[in-house]
Amino acid sequence: MTYIHDTLEGLRHSSPAQSEFYQAAEEVLECLRPLLESDPQYHDHSIIERIVEPERQIMFRVCWTDDAGRVRVNKGYRIQFNSALGPYKGGLRFHASVNASIIKFLGFEQIFKNALTGLPIGGGKGGSNFDPKGKSDAEIMRFCQAYMSELYRHIGPTTDVPAGDIGVGAREIGYLYGQYKRLTGRYEGVLTGKRLNWGGSLGRKEATGYGAVYFAQNMLADRGEDLRGKTCLVSGAGNVAIYTIEKLYQLGALPVTCSDSRGTLHDPQGIDLETLKRLKEVERGPLTHYLTYRPDARYLSREDDPGEGHAVWRIPADVAFPCATQNELTVADAEALISNGVTCLSEGANMPTTAKAVDCFLDARIAYGPGKAANAGGVATSQLEMAQNSSMQQWTLEKVDNKLQAIMADIYRSCADTAAEFGAPHNLVLGANIAGFRKVADAMIEQGVC
Ligand code: GLU
Repeated sequence: MTYIHDTLEGLRHSSPAQSEFYQAAEEVLECLRPLLESDPQYHDHSIIERIVEPERQIMFRVCWTDDAGRVRVNKGYRIQFNSALGPYKGGLRFHASVNASIIKFLGFEQIFKNALTGLPIGGGKGGSNFDPKGKSDAEIMRFCQAYMSELYRHIGPTTDVPAGDIGVGAREIGYLYGQYKRLTGRYEGVLTGKRLNWGGSLGRKEATGYGAVYFAQNMLADRGEDLRGKTCLVSGAGNVAIYTIEKLYQLGALPVTCSDSRGTLHDPQGIDLETLKRLKEVERGPLTHYLTYRPDARYLSREDDPGEGHAVWRIPADVAFPCATQNELTVADAEALISNGVTCLSEGANMPTTAKAVDCFLDARIAYGPGKAANAGGVATSQLEMAQNSSMQQWTLEKVDNKLQAIMADIYRSCADTAAEFGAPHNLVLGANIAGFRKVADAMIEQGVC
C-alpha cells in the first residue's frame, strides 16, 4: 500500500508546514488500508489523491477599525473541501491560533463527519486568526461585517453554508447574516446557527453537546451500561461543553469539571449549570468568577497542569468528554484517565486527542467515540435548520431532538457495524473513517472526474 505513504509524503511537499492537516489525513488514510486492499475501485479512480485535495481554498484580507480608530488586519479563510454529497457545510472559527493548517484539518474532518450524518451536505470550513478576546461588541460587529464583505460572493444556500465554531456563536452569526443580506438583498438560509426569531432552529445551540452525550449513551448501551450515576469530566466552557453538561444532568450523570484557556474548574458537587451559563453566555467573563458563587469549587490554573498534559484529565471519573480544542488530550492524559478507571470517552471537540493518545484508548479497549462521529450532532442539526429554511417552516424542539437522537444512533450503528465488518469491532475510529469515506468516494466515482 505504498500509495498511502506516497500521498502523505506528497502532501508534506505540496502543502508544507500543515501539521494538523497531516495528522488528520494520516489517521483517515491509515484506517482505509483494509478497504483499499479489498476494493481496488478506489485506487483505480485515484480517490485518495483527489480526496485530500480541497476543491477550492479561499484566503482573503480582512480590514476593520477598532474602537480607538486604528485599522486592524486579519487573515480570512474558507476552504471548500468536497461537494460530492451536497453543498459545502461547516463552521467558521475565530481564534488567534487559526492558520491554513488548522482550517484545512477541520475542513477535511468535516467531509467524513458530514457524510456520517447521512444528510446531503459536503465538507467545508472557514475562519480567521481574529482574536475575539477582550473585543467590544462594536468591534466584533465591524470585524464580522468586514469578513462577510469578502466571503459573501463565495457562499449561498445551495453552494456553501457556513455556521459557528470556536469564537463564533449566535451573536457573530447575526452580524455576518446582516451583512450578507445587505450586500445581496436576499433573505435566505446561507448561514446556520441563527437566532430563533429570524430563521434559526430550535435545538441547534444544544445539538453538538447533546449529540456527544447521545453518542456516549449508544456506546455504553452496547456494553450493557448507561450514564446514570456516572461521574463525568468535561473540558472547555463554550457552547459544546455547556450543553454536554446540561444533557449529562438530564440523564442522571454528574459532570464535575469544565475548563478554559487559563485552567480547570473542579466542582465535586457537580458543575452549577446556571452559574456556568450566566458566566459564559451573558457575562462572557473568565471561569475563575465561578468561585465567587461556589466557594467550595477549586480552580486549577495552567501552572498546576502536570508536565505532559492537563489537570482536567487527572481527576478520577467514569466518562470523559473533551469539548475544548484539537490535541488537548495527550498520551500522559490518556494513561491517567485509563488508570483512573475511565471506561468511555466521547469527543465533543474536533480531534481533541493526539494520535498516540488515541492508540492508548484503542489498546485499552475503552469505548472511544472519535469526534467526527461523536460531535456530528451539531452539523446534522444545522442541516435540519437548512431544511426548515428552504421549506419556510419551523419545527418543534421535540421533532428536532428526536431526529438528532435518531441520527446519533445511526452514526453509532454505522461506525460499529463497519468496524465489525473489518474485523475490529472495538475500533470506532476505523469504523467512522471507512463508513464516512465510502459514502463520499462512491459519490465521487459516480459523478466522474471533476
Ligand atoms: N463547527 C461545527 C462542527 O465542527 C458545526 C458546523 C456546522 O454546523 O455547519 O461540526
